[in-house]
Amino acid sequence: RALIRKLEETIENVPDFPIPGIQFKDISPIFLDPKLYEDVIVDLVAFSKGKVDAVCGIESRGYLFGIAIAVALEVPFILIRKSGKLPPPVISEEYDLEYGSAVIETREGQIKPGQKVLIHDDLLATGGTTEAAAKLVEKQGATVSQFSFLIGLKDLKGEEKLKKYNAEVYHILEY
Ligand code: 5GP
Repeated sequence: RALIRKLEETIENVPDFPIPGIQFKDISPIFLDPKLYEDVIVDLVAFSKGKVDAVCGIESRGYLFGIAIAVALEVPFILIRKSGKLPPPVISEEYDLEYGSAVIETREGQIKPGQKVLIHDDLLATGGTTEAAAKLVEKQGATVSQFSFLIGLKDLKGEEKLKKYNAEVYHILEY
């Protein structure tokens, strides 16, 4: 598809960032091209149209597309942030990183019990961050019904971690 080809040309692969051995996918050139940005949003909105009651975006690149998706769907947008950024009361979830662990948080009460939620981020790697976000959603009595990403990194098998949620998983392109 034309959108996939255009994104492949636009997203920059930066070797050895932020540490040696990592091939970092830099999405920032997308924002230099408003038409391309709009096409990405239209594609992600088409995936979720009529299927969710709220969108959760993961800090920070998940906000860049997540808010636009939520506005187009006319549903609430909820921030999932790294710990210590949101004022109390918050709900927290700890998850493992390659070395050590991290905590993400959301404002208590913004995700409502019974809601069907889309979790959105720019990129799915190991799935650790996204899985922690899904746990936050479930802690609030809501259901994850969809996950969407611009990019999936297939070697890291993130999608397998998300299978247990019985949710639809979508990424525009895969590396
Ligand atoms: P995971 O928890 O799936 O291993 O990592 C996914 C998270 O790391 C996402 O929040 C994503 O933004 C960030 N991330 C990891 N690698 C990359 C990359 O190559 N490019 C970008 N844009 N984000 C990355």
